[in-house]
Amino acid sequence: MSKMVKPADQGLIHLTVLRTERLAPHWVRVTLGGGDIHRFVPMGYDQWFRLFLPVGGDEGLGRIPAKANKTLGYLKYLRIPEGVRPVMRNYTVRAFRPATDASGHGTSGAAELDVDFVLHGTAAEGTAGPASSWAETCAPGESVVIIDEGLAFNPERGVRSVVLVSDETGLPAIAGICASLPADAKGIAIIEVPSQDDALEFTRPVGVGIQWVIRDRDARRKPGELALDALRAAALPDGDFHAYIVGEQALPTGARRHLVGDRGVDKNLVSFCGYWRTGHAAQRTNEAAHQKETSR
Ligand SMILES: Cc1cc2nc3c(=O)[nH]c(=O)nc-3n(C[C@H](O)[C@H](O)[C@H](O)COP(=O)(O)OP(=O)(O)OC[C@H]3O[C@@H](n4cnc5c(N)ncnc54)[C@H](O)[C@@H]3O)c2cc1C
Repeated sequence: MSKMVKPADQGLIHLTVLRTERLAPHWVRVTLGGGDIHRFVPMGYDQWFRLFLPVGGDEGLGRIPAKANKTLGYLKYLRIPEGVRPVMRNYTVRAFRPATDASGHGTSGAAELDVDFVLHGTAAEGTAGPASSWAETCAPGESVVIIDEGLAFNPERGVRSVVLVSDETGLPAIAGICASLPADAKGIAIIEVPSQDDALEFTRPVGVGIQWVIRDRDARRKPGELALDALRAAALPDGDFHAYIVGEQALPTGARRHLVGDRGVDKNLVSFCGYWRTGHAAQRTNEAAHQKETSR
């Protein structure tokens, strides 16, 4: 059974910022649309995409090569001069609303895609990532490009019984999964967030309980550590379940080790993905991974 579910079309999709909304202390929602939105095919669950941000102006967006998400395209992307090259980061479809008119175009009733960004770091400490800063300051009319990457939660691994675990970066993914599960699905979601106000509610099957883990009660703990503690203490569903863990690298690796090693969960039923790494910018992680791939 394949881990990922890839989309049929991975072409470049040009979109525009329609509006932004500050949802909570660490959350901003950016709604995208216009441009090529009619080419975006929603797959539900935790559908994610490469997001290219115009930090060096719109010129860079016009120079993104096809297949910039694959090794050769990515090397071409790296040849775009520094300062012009768009920043590439990974984000999740929090919600997609299809067009209500037949064409998919137009100013009213056109399709829209919501992306929820975690705001993290500060400029003073030099820890503000470009994507987080962009989301906080972007304005309607700005352009972006996305490449659809499909699902990391493969529904074939099970949708009736689930254990979903994440830090705040996985909240959009877990919300998307819960919106796609059958109404009679059962299980638990454990989600760690920086503060009580960041615990954004979402619709889920009645049988899927939620446990919010609030980090500001224990500021000394690194993101993901309290969620892992909560998983270790949790009563898990009887029988087989599909476990899904995303967030700061140590959370998915630690949680998978715990589930498979201590709880006897079948490793083929665990979907997991490191979403970010403390102290490492995503761009550099991508470059290192690609260099490793190409030097083999
Ligand atoms: C498949 C996938 C889907 C994702 N979906 C979402 C999503 O929907 N919403 C979302 O907000 N994130 C999501 N992420 C995580 C997001 O891509 C990373 O947090 C990314 O590093 C943010 O980019 P940046 O430019 O803000 O920071 P970077 O330039 O990558 O990092 C700068 C510094 O900030 C730190 N950092 C990065 N992210 C965080 C964080 N969240 N909290 C604290 N410190 C951080 C890094 O360790 C580094 O020291 C997803 C990741 C993946 C792989």
